[in-house]
Amino acid sequence: MSNKVIHIALANPRGFCAGVDRAIEIVENALEKYGKPIYVRNEVVHNKYVIESLKQKGAIFVNDLKKVPENSFLIFSAHGVSKKVKTDTLNYHLKSIDATCPLVTKVHKEVNRYLFEGYEILMIGHSGHPEVEGTLGQEADSKGKMHLIESLEDAKNIAIKNPNKLAFVTQTTLSLDETKEIISVLKHRFPNIQGPKADDICYATQNRQDAVKKSLHDADLFLVVGSKNSSNSNRLKELGDKNNIESYLIDDMNEFNPQWLNNKHKVLITAGASAPEVLTQALINTIKTYKQIEIEEIDGTEENIIFKLPKI
Ligand code: SF4
Repeated sequence: MSNKVIHIALANPRGFCAGVDRAIEIVENALEKYGKPIYVRNEVVHNKYVIESLKQKGAIFVNDLKKVPENSFLIFSAHGVSKKVKTDTLNYHLKSIDATCPLVTKVHKEVNRYLFEGYEILMIGHSGHPEVEGTLGQEADSKGKMHLIESLEDAKNIAIKNPNKLAFVTQTTLSLDETKEIISVLKHRFPNIQGPKADDICYATQNRQDAVKKSLHDADLFLVVGSKNSSNSNRLKELGDKNNIESYLIDDMNEFNPQWLNNKHKVLITAGASAPEVLTQALINTIKTYKQIEIEEIDGTEENIIFKLPKI
């Protein structure tokens, strides 16, 4: 490979997952059917570009439901919501439309089943992430049955009332490797713990991490297209960091620094599950303005999952 030509390897699959596609379509369909404005609780998916384009079409993103006028439509984001948010929506006389990813809803159902059966539940995830708030918030009566496990240390130290009535669930967008370690500690400490076969990490998170792992070894620069608050994008970047490869998470092409390309031969590019392909192409075009490039699409797991849209 010539020193002047930068080889760009594109990981596959990358970018939008079925849950993100569905959530965006729900907002767009609601705007088309009911006209603007349509209110959306939090960012419907974690991507700056997507949020800006939906704002331009008439979506208003809010954190505080008190700011939404009565009788307005309110869309719940792909990350899911707590029971309290659902009750507040009714109390404030709002009409809700649920864009929660069906794979998050599946976890909520599991949590509700365990709570009904009197289990204590360990949720493996990151504090403050909306999906974690929504899943922990399935315990509406705050009886302290749900505990957040954020690290191996937490898994080693958590105190449980009855280890024989214990279950775990996970956030859908975690690092596969870290989660495996945490679950193995929990299973060692609590042999009767109930839970999913492996974890609740979704197919899209798994496929994007696997695709990157397969191609990282000969890259000398790793770029992840995704927003800073996107959990699965951060987990992808961490794979580069752990392998000591210069890695950046890039949300907006203004953040691109051409110096990153100095003395580089092979750039691996991927995109988080909430990042549209148009941004990946913008990144390639940006690199092209500085260097001659050759592009390779790396084969990966084919994804053909489509989630049904709710009736609105
Ligand atoms: S990343 Fe996974 S859980 Fe999240 S919206 Fe996409 S498919 Fe659903």
